[in-house]
Amino acid sequence: MTLATLQEIERSSVIPSYARFPVEFVRGEGTRLWDEQGNEYLDFLCGISVTNLGHCHPRVVEAVRAQVGVLMHTSNLFYTEPAMRLAERLAASSLGGKVFFCNSGAEANEAAIKLARKAKPGGDVVVVHGAFHGRTYGALSATPQESKQAPFAPLVPGFKAIAPTAEALASAIDERTALVLLEPIQGETGVHVLSEELLLCAREACDAHGAALVFDEVQCGMGRTGTLWAYEQTGVLPDAITAAKALGGGLPIGALITAPRLADVFAPGDHGSTFAGGPVIAAAALAALDETGEEALLEGVRASGTFLRGALAELPHVISVRGAGLMLACELDVPAPEVTRRALLAERLIVNATGPTTLRLLPPLNVSEQEIQEGLIRLGRALAG
Ligand code: PLP
Repeated sequence: MTLATLQEIERSSVIPSYARFPVEFVRGEGTRLWDEQGNEYLDFLCGISVTNLGHCHPRVVEAVRAQVGVLMHTSNLFYTEPAMRLAERLAASSLGGKVFFCNSGAEANEAAIKLARKAKPGGDVVVVHGAFHGRTYGALSATPQESKQAPFAPLVPGFKAIAPTAEALASAIDERTALVLLEPIQGETGVHVLSEELLLCAREACDAHGAALVFDEVQCGMGRTGTLWAYEQTGVLPDAITAAKALGGGLPIGALITAPRLADVFAPGDHGSTFAGGPVIAAAALAALDETGEEALLEGVRASGTFLRGALAELPHVISVRGAGLMLACELDVPAPEVTRRALLAERLIVNATGPTTLRLLPPLNVSEQEIQEGLIRLGRALAG
């Protein structure tokens, strides 16, 4: 089908909740995508940090192929090996507690909110401005952005949004607080790294008042910042993390991963999801985790990130660069949406604008030096206009 036909179908049959670019992709491999006319694109966005290992990573594809013809779905009324192995691996790779599976980042945060409220009945949830935790009602209530929340009021009660500072957190967390939910690096609002001081203060206040500290690692986890989990670089141990996006190597899965303290809060019947932890997705996630956990890959993320960050700062119209590893944003002195559009349509480079002057880059973790050089040339031309 041509792009024009797809656009016609969209107009007549698709609820218009997305503003799509006029590009139809038909194939992906590694850092590259191809449109229906055979044009090749460099993907420095990874489907918003999902295809972290590149498109159709052979190890993930092989795991899915091997599982999909054997057993696709049973529900969580029964055992399957991939889900149990994945839970064991995820807990061992992080906080050492237990895992609840779901299908997306928003659902992982819903699970965290429910878990924290069950652990401390009736308790409040504290979040910070600039956060994005998802679009379902609980996750949306934890996402203090007027444009996203206002049309859907009333939201879930008991959520408190404060400034992302240590002082504000210290005074907001009290004996009524059940949960403090934080992205160590805020992704959707433009790659803002929360300070170590803020995270330490959150940890201390949560300990003092018996609240759960949960890090939303949906975007910054799974190797994106140069360690498997972003919290590893902070010196703060959360009580749980939420993961999704890259967890399934390109397929949909989410997870709440706890430390031992919160591991047995849910009892049978408290929470669930029909598709959660299905064998095909779990097999894909195991393969993705094997690959992402390789120290050489993570070392590569740190090295590529340092190089890319330095080179971005030299490009025209780039005022500053922030982020960690391969989760980077450039502040521009020209409109970022226009640069994004030019990069995509004229240079065939995929990046995105998270704000009027903010450009976000999330290239694959295994991006090569040559691909980075190529991306920089294309972005430089898009910036120059
Ligand atoms: N949390 C963070 C930090 C995210 O970046 C996102 C999505 O961008 C979500 C949660 C929601 O994830 P999903 O779109 O899979 O529901």
